[in-house]
Amino acid sequence: MGLEAKSGVRYRTVITQLRGRAAVANKPDLLTVARLAPFLMEPLQQAFTVHERLHEEDPAALERIAPKIRAICGSGESKVGADLIARLPALEIISIMGVGYDGVDVAAAKARSVVVTHTPDVLNDDVADLALALMLNVARRIPQADQYLRQGRWTSGPMPLARKMSGARLGIVGMGRIGQAIAERAKAFGMSIAYTARSAKPALPYAFHPTPRELAAASDFLVVITPGGAATRKLIDAEVLRALGPEGYLVNVARGSVVDEAALIEALREGVIAGAALDVFENEPNVPEALRALDNAVLVPHIGSATTQTRHAMAARAFANLEAHFAGKPLPSAVPECR
Ligand code: NAP
Repeated sequence: MGLEAKSGVRYRTVITQLRGRAAVANKPDLLTVARLAPFLMEPLQQAFTVHERLHEEDPAALERIAPKIRAICGSGESKVGADLIARLPALEIISIMGVGYDGVDVAAAKARSVVVTHTPDVLNDDVADLALALMLNVARRIPQADQYLRQGRWTSGPMPLARKMSGARLGIVGMGRIGQAIAERAKAFGMSIAYTARSAKPALPYAFHPTPRELAAASDFLVVITPGGAATRKLIDAEVLRALGPEGYLVNVARGSVVDEAALIEALREGVIAGAALDVFENEPNVPEALRALDNAVLVPHIGSATTQTRHAMAARAFANLEAHFAGKPLPSAVPECR
């Protein structure tokens, strides 16, 4: 290679490096507030200068870069309180990878004109599938049946009989996007369907009950799928469980806060209800030993949307919200309070 050609290569390399640096310099700063999957971290790192969970890992370092942070990205379980929002004067957007955003202080965000986004719809199928799976698991005692076989107990005799699900009465607490997806699936099981919500939905062909207690009294399976937060805290209490009764099953795929966990443990112990299947808990990932010890409870570790397909779709939406914001385009899915 001649001198001229060589210097041409060098020139182009320097320009590319400078462009790279300029691009890096222009990348908005983003704070992650959850352990995010690699398929979200990768595009985030390309488009942003990412500061991983500094608020927990290194608060002093966060203090230093706080004035630069323009975006937060977290999961449905992330806590973004008024205190964190107040520490980030340049914050513009909080993108949650999840439909539930009860950990975000939306009022504090709005007061600072910070927009909050989430990822509705793309996870309806998975959460509804899991709700039906939990209903079948708790009624047909599938985890116990699996253990029965593995422990060699089948050779001594058959399993005790379980509860039929098809044709039973289903009550859904929260008839939103996921509640309706659960109802669609339950139809295939010949179940009668009723619900409660903040308001009746006359367009839907299901019976409305104004309170969870009245719905529980008319249900064999009570499935909870409301948002979390202050408005639904302990919506399912001892009184609702008594109304569900000794033949009734509770399924919670909403948030742990929606069910009074101590009252539920008591009800399961005392036979006030027949059983419960839970995806969510009051103090995740810690599940009380008293609950883990109960044979009439099926417990899974918050896996409602945890499939590769759905988590990829959620990550794509969480990123699309950030991308749209910084491109000055309409947001694909701001939370209702920020629309
Ligand atoms: P959505 O479309 O907003 O539906 C929420 C439903 O809950 C609505 O029918 C609403 O009533 C009802 N509701 C709200 N507050 C209520 C109250 N105080 N009393 C009774 N009903 C109330 O939400 P979605 O997309 O179906 O998601 C629901 C929730 O599921 C999320 O917020 C999240 O907490 C949870 N979730 C869990 C997982 C998991 O992994 N287990 C995954 C995804 C979502 P109106 O229709 O009358 O407003």
